Amino acid sequence: MSGAIDSILVEERVFEPAPGFKAAAAVSGMEAYQALREHARRDPDGFWGDMAREALVWRKPFTRVLDESDAPFYRWFDDGELNVSENCLDVHLSNGNADKTALIFEADDGAVQTVSFRALHARVCRIANGIANLGYRKGDRAILYMPMSIEAIACMQACARLGITHSVVFGGFSTKSLHQRIVDVQASLVITADAQMRGGRAIPLKAAVDEALAGPDTERVRQVLVYRRSGGPVDWQDGRDCWLHDVEQGRPDTCEPVPVEAEHPLFILYTSGSTGKPKGVQHSSAGYLLWTKMSAQWVFDAKPDDVFWCTADIGWVTGHSYIAYGAMAAGLTQIVFEGVPTYPDAGRFWDMIRRHKVTIFYTAPTAIRSLIKASATTPGTAPRHYDLSSLRLLGSVGEPINPEAWVWYHQQVGGGRCPVVDTWWQTETGGHIVAPLPGATPLKPGSCTLPLPGIEIDVVDEAGNSLPEGKGGHLVITRPWPAMIRTVWGDAERYVKSYFPPEFGGAYLSGDNAQRDADGYCWILGRTDDVLSVSGHRLGGTEIESTLVAHEAVAEAAVVGRPDPVTGEAVVAFVVPKDELPGEADAPALAGALRDWVAREVGPIAKPREIWFGNAMPKTRSGKIMRRLLRIVAENGEITQDTSTLENPDALNRLHGPY
Ligand code: ATP
Ligand code: MG
Repeated sequence: MSGAIDSILVEERVFEPAPGFKAAAAVSGMEAYQALREHARRDPDGFWGDMAREALVWRKPFTRVLDESDAPFYRWFDDGELNVSENCLDVHLSNGNADKTALIFEADDGAVQTVSFRALHARVCRIANGIANLGYRKGDRAILYMPMSIEAIACMQACARLGITHSVVFGGFSTKSLHQRIVDVQASLVITADAQMRGGRAIPLKAAVDEALAGPDTERVRQVLVYRRSGGPVDWQDGRDCWLHDVEQGRPDTCEPVPVEAEHPLFILYTSGSTGKPKGVQHSSAGYLLWTKMSAQWVFDAKPDDVFWCTADIGWVTGHSYIAYGAMAAGLTQIVFEGVPTYPDAGRFWDMIRRHKVTIFYTAPTAIRSLIKASATTPGTAPRHYDLSSLRLLGSVGEPINPEAWVWYHQQVGGGRCPVVDTWWQTETGGHIVAPLPGATPLKPGSCTLPLPGIEIDVVDEAGNSLPEGKGGHLVITRPWPAMIRTVWGDAERYVKSYFPPEFGGAYLSGDNAQRDADGYCWILGRTDDVLSVSGHRLGGTEIESTLVAHEAVAEAAVVGRPDPVTGEAVVAFVVPKDELPGEADAPALAGALRDWVAREVGPIAKPREIWFGNAMPKTRSGKIMRRLLRIVAENGEITQDTSTLENPDALNRLHGPY
């Protein structure tokens, strides 16, 4: 028994890069891609070493590329020193980019503010000088609990400038999560805002910090800096609390970047918590910056006049790697958006793309699926009503993108002319791992395609044996890469146990399942925890979900297993219809139609035994479907668990079924 997962979905559409796009791309054509891969295989030290010397500015050159002596605690560019903020900002002051727009900030209410690289550099320096003046130094740790803003990015950069390790906590998290993280990283500094504006409402942030700091084990925190966003009232603790504008007031516009060792922890970021207790992922300075910059350039095919919009919040790794660091080091002009995609209406993204002439748009399947649904229920907000001709490239991250959602994105948003880069990666990988190079890789909807140059992956069974094409198993990364997680903060044992269990022979275990097709393309089948076992077949939920989403009536679907005495597990599907939710009278007919559809498209084995309907899926705060809770609903018919970590707990109450 290899434990391999049976593949049930066949996707045959292929989209070759358009000749014009290919001709202008930095990595042009599959031969160029293969040449890079070969180079990295033949001479990894040369490949990564040359790249690190060319792409980064060093204060002290490194003499060694990779130290594997204490694996899996890998050390990259170990004896070199640099400063991340210098590499993101100062470099652009002397390369002709000083007056180029670095950030275009659009507030919830539509107000727009832009800053050049020169102005952003000055702002970061003033903040860094202010923070240094409060006595903070390299090695200290800061928690950032801030809304999407120029200030949040400037504060991350200011920490990097001083060698202060930051940990950004997503503004949608509760006091409890905030408290846990303040304690876990042993923070001495907290940076927050009075409130954040979302969908026309002010949501207090400072009050949550006050509450968190009233909790145990927070005595290390000496100072709370507060960015005034809403101007609303806040409680104030004299001596501890200071306004950010007072801290930077009158400080010099320049601040000498503090050189740090290559392995100095730039930040600690907790994973989304889709599968359990979040892990504090510790990232390095040099290796992390190198790979996020290079992958931003390659995967987004970054050009000097691009306007890049990554819609992720800086509270997630995507916002770190492809807003605050990698994309900034690459010198991209970026959109920073404070609000939500549905305010004032579901056309907000399209309207912003039109107004700011966005050329590269990078978002999550959850947003795409909800906007597909919105286009059906409020047709006026559909992308076809907006001029999106500025777009030249689209990207996806966070969950598997179902082929039908991919095709909608490609056609309705990209006008059929923009490549879609489906990027598979994780908080732990720091940057993209499996993703197309848009000027080279032919695209297949639903596949994240091929590993990037320098990245080696495999698909293996429980015993770590490589599986042939068409067989699903564990997705592992078999060689270290510069942006990889260095450890779980304060828990080296958990790092080794979670990511390098002995049966996988030193490979990094991702926790996701995948399979490769005859072209070597990688198809993510879902998380290892979400595999279903039906009548002796192991099935990845993603494939059944994609089949359901391909039905004209379905906007979103999640599939889980319910224990069954006969088949081992029964397939239970949760479905969000594109149009209105069917009533009790219509639901059985729709459920029957969907069962027939799955049976016809992929075979009877995948046919859902039961179907539930809802207006929305329960989602994590990062917008991922929470299958863990749906499994409980499938089993017990109701939810008994604590749902406070959900973005939308009431989604569970509105589910009805089973049919
Ligand atoms: P936790 O590890 O705490 O359970 P999480 O895995 O959701 O949380 P992240 O690091 O934010 O935290 O997400 C990484 C995961 O997201 C991947 O392991 C994968 O399951 C999913 N993912 C991200 N991008 C893609 C993609 N392009 N295709 C398929 N799945 C993706
Ligand atoms: Mg994870």
